[in-house]
Amino acid sequence: MKTYEVPSDIALANSLEEKLELLKHIGRSFSVFRIDCGSCNGCEIEIFAAITPLWDPERFGFKLVANPRHADILLCTGPVTRQMYYPLLRAYEATPDPKIVVALGACGATGGIFYDAYSVLSGIDKIIPVDVYIPGCPPHPASIIYGLTTALGVMEQRLQKVSFEEEGEMPSLVEDSIMGNS
Ligand code: SF4
Repeated sequence: MKTYEVPSDIALANSLEEKLELLKHIGRSFSVFRIDCGSCNGCEIEIFAAITPLWDPERFGFKLVANPRHADILLCTGPVTRQMYYPLLRAYEATPDPKIVVALGACGATGGIFYDAYSVLSGIDKIIPVDVYIPGCPPHPASIIYGLTTALGVMEQRLQKVSFEEEGEMPSLVEDSIMGNS
């Protein structure tokens, strides 16, 4: 019988089909809090398309939640306007560790076509650390689900780091680089 190392294997899988097949073997859900930092709503519409029964990401464990305190993943659409600077910071602070931040769309990555507007500060990563970028204007629902599954690989690395810190051990790669072995 085949055994799976999830979500490590999810991070290594290349295609969306491979990632989704692996996701079926996870026995937990992943809560996603969506925050619109000032987008044109194109990205928002694609998020809502992605959570319809046609794509149904809940079968793989992803579900939207209404409060960042309940979230594993912060899904941000940009650009970040001056009005949304503090709400974004508050949502980031409220999301429990190990949190994953996903920047959605060209605006989330860089500010996109609004980057030099008087009301816009920047893309998401100038305000808070971003782990995964989902490109597109707007991204396709399949890209959104692909990006969320990629975020699980990042979460796995975070959890390993936390457990190493708690146990006082160093990951071998870090140890090797300190010892000059790599
Ligand atoms: Fe709108 Fe495109 Fe920016 Fe998304 S990336 S908020 S669709 S302009």
